[in-house]
Parts: sequence; structure tokens; C-alpha cells
Amino acid sequence: MSHEIRTPMNGVIVMSEELLRTELEGKQREMAEVVRLSGKHLLAIINDILDFSKLDAGKMKVIPESMNLRDVVKGVVELLSVSAKDKGIDIYYAWDDRITEFVMGDPVRINQILLNLAGNAVKFTDDGVVVIRVSLIEAGEQATSGEEVIFGDKGERIRFEIKDTGVGISEEQHKLLFQPFSQVDGSSTRQYGGTGLGLNICKHLVDLMSGVIGVESRDGQGSTFYVEIPYTSGEAPDTILANDTTLDDADVQAAIKGLRVLLLEDNEINQMVAESLLEDYGFSFDIADNGAEAVDKFKDGTFDLILMDCQMPVMDGYEATRTIRALEAEDQSRHPVFIAAMTANALPEDRERCLEVGMNAFIAKPIDEKILHGAIHQAVVTLS
Ligand code: ADP
Repeated sequence: MSHEIRTPMNGVIVMSEELLRTELEGKQREMAEVVRLSGKHLLAIINDILDFSKLDAGKMKVIPESMNLRDVVKGVVELLSVSAKDKGIDIYYAWDDRITEFVMGDPVRINQILLNLAGNAVKFTDDGVVVIRVSLIEAGEQATSGEEVIFGDKGERIRFEIKDTGVGISEEQHKLLFQPFSQVDGSSTRQYGGTGLGLNICKHLVDLMSGVIGVESRDGQGSTFYVEIPYTSGEAPDTILANDTTLDDADVQAAIKGLRVLLLEDNEINQMVAESLLEDYGFSFDIADNGAEAVDKFKDGTFDLILMDCQMPVMDGYEATRTIRALEAEDQSRHPVFIAAMTANALPEDRERCLEVGMNAFIAKPIDEKILHGAIHQAVVTLS
């Protein structure tokens, strides 16, 4: 389902962004912007519904890894600061230095929870400030909910508090909040949009992390949502990050133009979308419709970067990557090609699978241009 829905959404969102980059007169620009925003909004709803059904069926997994928690929190604040600024409110975070920068956790899901809670805080606040406070709770300390919860290796927990000065929630509504499809104001005249799924998804995810989630709030007096999850410190990765490079911007731009790229894409609309995005980079690229064709092209030609669709007829992207990596292992004179998945299989486990078979980067569809750009940049740095 997820794959089938993402493919046309890739067409709607990326093409409207591309359209907005062309010369348009005022009214046309407005209309294209409505298409783009509606596409983004629809995608957010679809993502919620897909997550909800997966959680409901007991099929969702959290995959802990050593992750930079502080970067995730910072990223959430940065992302929301745009809409906060539009509303004239402040958003910032406070960090407890007893927490190591790297902790064990699922970065995608922790990001999702924080974005949801802090996104709500911004949505339901018209005046004042939103604060995300991250602190360490030592073994044996009481959670605010009153229950004592034992967590983590040493019983320590991380507590996230998302506090706002917004409309608040009356006490009788608190229990309802975490039910699916529930909104405090369910009337047809309600002021704020939403599916009412966000908090239910957060609750499920926090449960999977063996954590607790709750709220303290009163009508008209702002809200504080809190999440507590086990704390186990992680380790900084010892690989050098691709960004640590001596290449300057001009070198990177020149290297990008010189890339020889192979694009794999079986879907005609997605091919048009990708071509439209790639043309802006000024490099030459070849296209293959399936993995077997890509392997043939790889044998005959020289490529620096392969943008690899995963689900394709004849031979899928996983098999094609394995085959290409095996060919490289046989012929040491070949410089390993940089392979980035570009796929509508957008779940964290899909990403794991791509990296496992030997891909170097992962770009989910609908394609976010910043992520595509990051992968191309990473390819240049890795190949240099
Ligand atoms: P929605 O997508 O509708 O926001 P959620 O599950 O995230 O769905 O939230 C459910 C309801 O809880 C919201 O519609 C709103 O009524 C209430 N709510 C959530 N967060 C806040 C908050 N920070 N302040 C006030 N009300 C909130």
C-alpha cells in the first residue's frame, strides 16, 4: 500500500515543486503552491493512516541504534521554527548535560514523536513560547504520572517535556486524547485541522519503547506533554562522516557536473520526475528500466553514481546491487560505484535492507530535494 500511494504522490509533490521553479504569473504561482501544499498535507495524512494501521496490526517495530539524540531534538526545533515564527511565537530546547550526545534509540521514531508533540504545541499556541526540555531521570525517581517505572540498564530514563503556553486541554479530555481519531474540538466548525491520530501513534510508539507518555494541562492554561523512555548511552560512530572533507564548494560543484550517473526507474511518471530533478545538476545520466538492464549497462560502461529504484520487474534493486557489488569484488580495477536507493519503500526497515545489500545512501519517495542533494554531495565526497 505504502509503495503504491507514494508513487503518484512523488509525481504530485515533486512536479509541483518543479513547476514553481519555472516562470509563472501571480495567479498561476498561487495555484501551483496550493497543489504543492495539498500534496504535502495529503502525504502527512497518508503517513499517519499507514502508521496507525501498522501499529494496530502489531507489525510496527522500533529499531534501536546508537543515535545522536541532541541532533534530532535540534532538527525538530529548526523545522518547527519556521511555522512558530509565522505565528509570532518562540520555540527552543533545553538540554541536560548528564545525557550523552549519543544514546540508544530509534532515531526515526523518536523524531516522529517529538515532531508530533512539538508540532501540536505550535499548532495550539497563539501567544508565547514552546519549549522542549530533555532531562535525565535517575534510577528510582518518580515519574510525574506518579508511577515508579524502572527503565534502562541502570534504571535511568530520558524525559522529554514539551511545554506550551497555548489553549490548554480540560482535565476530562485528557484520557480521550490518546484514543485514535479523537480531537478535543470535534465540531465541524473547529479551528484547527488534523486527523486525531498523532497522539495515538505516539502512545503506541512509546509503548514499543517501553516508555510512558502523558499530559498535564488545564483549559486555557497551556499544556505539558511528557514522554519518558529508557536511557542507555550509545557510542559515536567511528566512521568519518562524509561531510568532513577538504573539498570546497566550487570543487564539489565541478565534481557534481562531471558525475556519470545511472538512473533506475521502471515507472514512467517517476522517470519524468527524476529526470526533471537531475537535469538541474548538469551531469550526464543514463536510464535503465530494471535491475537486469542496469547490470548490463554497468558491465559495459563506467558510472560513479547509481540511483537505484528497489521494486522493479525482472530484477529488483536489491538483487541488482548485490550483483554489482559481486562484479566489483571480482574486478579490483573498478572503483566502487556509489549506490543510492531512490525508493517508495520508505520505512526504516527498508532503509536497513538497502544498506545491508551494499547501497551507500537512501532517498525515500516522494523525493525530498535536500536529501537527494545530500546523497549526491556524499557521493562526490566519497569518490574523491
Ligand atoms: P491532530 O492531528 O488532530 O492534532 P493529535 O492526536 O495529535 O491529532 O491530537 C488530538 C487532539 O489533542 C488535538 O486535536 C487537540 O484537540 C488536542 N491537543 C493535542 N496537543 C495539544 C496541545 N499542545 N494543546 C492543546 N490541545 C492539544
